[in-house]
Amino acid sequence: MPIKDSIRAIADLLPGGCRLIAVTKFQPTTAIEEAYEAGQRLFGENKAQELVGKHEGLPDDIAWHMIGHLQRNKVKYIAPFVSLIHSIDSLRLLEEVNKEGAKHNRVIPCLLQVHIAMEDTKFGFSEEEILELPDQLNALSLSNVAINGLMGMATFTGNEHQVHTEFEALNRLFTDLRQRDTGPLMKMEELSMGMSNDFRIAIEHGSTLVRVGTAIFGERAKP
Ligand SMILES: *Cc1c(COP(=O)(O)O)cnc(C)c1O
Repeated sequence: MPIKDSIRAIADLLPGGCRLIAVTKFQPTTAIEEAYEAGQRLFGENKAQELVGKHEGLPDDIAWHMIGHLQRNKVKYIAPFVSLIHSIDSLRLLEEVNKEGAKHNRVIPCLLQVHIAMEDTKFGFSEEEILELPDQLNALSLSNVAINGLMGMATFTGNEHQVHTEFEALNRLFTDLRQRDTGPLMKMEELSMGMSNDFRIAIEHGSTLVRVGTAIFGERAKP
């Protein structure tokens, strides 16, 4: 299917309040331009260097999202322009983002990545750690980051029941935090969950941002 048709087909499935991030990792510029011409403006990358290169070569009105594991020494490269970092998985990383945000005089929007999958290869905070964060954050006074929500990746499995259970659990945590007084730094607005193979399940559980690559661009050439 042409890229523009894939984007339209996916967008048609999303409820109001849920936005599509086109994940461009390993995709050539021509494919991204095709998505852009179809009206797509939110793009995601899982590597800092790729984000920087693509940001430089493509139109300014694209919002670039960092969705993959981020090393602290790479934060400086993306801090000037990144729209949302989905993958905050430690307080030290958040402090680094805050430091770089201050250098560029901006407040960088972030999501906390929560480990919901059974695989232990996926990064993120545990539920227990997330619940302790509001107090820890209030003690730190970070003024150049904003925590706008949570992100999670379900287990890569054909067992849909498992995926439902994991997304449901993340939504429960999101809703729980939303109802608490989590201080000025944390505002639960975005729930980033769902990829090509499971975004249909994720939207049933309240996803506000789906991160879709393969279902738009086709299979990636693995590096
Ligand atoms: C690659 C990637 C995606 C998109 O994966 P697809 O299966 O191609 O849709 C989503 N989120 C993250 C964090 C990724 O690294």
